[in-house]
Amino acid sequence: MVAEQVGVDGATTRELERMMEAFPDLPAEAVVKQDILRQGLAFSPDALRVAGGYKPKDYFIFTFDLVPVAEMAKHADFRAPEEIRMTGGPYDLRRTVVSTRVAPDSPYRVELHEGKLALNCEGTFLADVEFPPIPEYYKHTLSSGRSISQIAPAIEWGYLVYLTVYRLCQYWGRDEECRFCDLNENFRQQRANGREYTPVKDLEDIVEAMTLIHQHDSVTKAYTVTGGSITRKLDGMREGEFYARFAEAIESRFPGRWIPKAVVQALPLDEVKMLHDAGYRIYHPNYEVWDAELFNWICPGKDRYVGRDAWVQRILDAADVFGPTNVIPNFVGGVEMAKPHGFTDVDQAIASTAEGLEFFMSHGVVPRFTTWCPEPTSNLGRQDGPPLEYFIKLLRVWRDTFEAHKLPVPPGYGKPGAGNAEFSVSAFMDVIRTP
Ligand code: SF4
Repeated sequence: MVAEQVGVDGATTRELERMMEAFPDLPAEAVVKQDILRQGLAFSPDALRVAGGYKPKDYFIFTFDLVPVAEMAKHADFRAPEEIRMTGGPYDLRRTVVSTRVAPDSPYRVELHEGKLALNCEGTFLADVEFPPIPEYYKHTLSSGRSISQIAPAIEWGYLVYLTVYRLCQYWGRDEECRFCDLNENFRQQRANGREYTPVKDLEDIVEAMTLIHQHDSVTKAYTVTGGSITRKLDGMREGEFYARFAEAIESRFPGRWIPKAVVQALPLDEVKMLHDAGYRIYHPNYEVWDAELFNWICPGKDRYVGRDAWVQRILDAADVFGPTNVIPNFVGGVEMAKPHGFTDVDQAIASTAEGLEFFMSHGVVPRFTTWCPEPTSNLGRQDGPPLEYFIKLLRVWRDTFEAHKLPVPPGYGKPGAGNAEFSVSAFMDVIRTP
């Protein structure tokens, strides 16, 4: 959080409007969304009471919060909604879905005003707000007794079932874990707060959950299978084998019912083929940050076990198996400006990341990004993320490179375009221009 942007001095609003004016070819929805993702959301006690009737944040992989769980116990605890959807207000926003990152001192605050939910920015009305409905299938319990929301939570306004099947990572400790990541720490926090949180999800639970979703839900359209990296073996299996079993089990029962996606490491070709043969259609071998030296610093485990050049080559090799359109590596937007070794200049950071976008998109591979959330218990710790200007320039270079190469809309992300996009952790889908 940037101190001078908090409060009621109008700095946040002025910056929003400066960006809207400087980048009129980007939708206002994308500008506001990126800033909320960057600064987080606060909730009034009344708004949290209302949230009790809607889908809460399920902590489906990382915390994506700007404060530790223990500190927000008095604030949002676990009752904050997974996302908000905002409309209207002074910028006449079309429906825009934004993931919740709890930040009690954010200038963006959801409140209850005359019985209606409203998003205020620095105390001034910004948009009407809705919370996500609880999926119909959440009413059911698995025969193991586990709650379905823990095994197969839905995000992106119900579009995506998120199956984090391995909630630890074998990259362990500061010399191996990616520095922005709090996956291992999230596991420890959830357990310490008494939540039901198993390290490896049972295949039987997953299959039963997907069966219930198939029977009771018509909103979900895709599922993601993911988890920590497996550098050695897990239950006697290599990473590709371990994750392949889940799609195999689901696709053999419900072929083509959802778009199956795997978010795992950039694996050797034989393991990539296992994933494809198992039924996955989209492969996300995330490269996190483009600059080679920053990759080495930010992803020490990936750099040591695989190496940055091999990682990039494996992404291209995977395109031969899945088809380039179906290989969608993620990077963590903004982490290239992390202190102390990241870029200090916005334009240099953008130039570096743009080089990676050009490289992949010239091969037909479309990277997408999530918005870096400086999670306090990650190795990078509490620090200010990049300014809004960085994210707006990133959105523009992403869209311009995407358009220059005339690439198709990335599959498995729901609808593109402002007013339609469901993807909630960055505005890359919101800036795609639709006919
Ligand atoms: S590979 Fe990196 S980002 Fe992924 S879970 Fe492990 S430490 Fe986190």
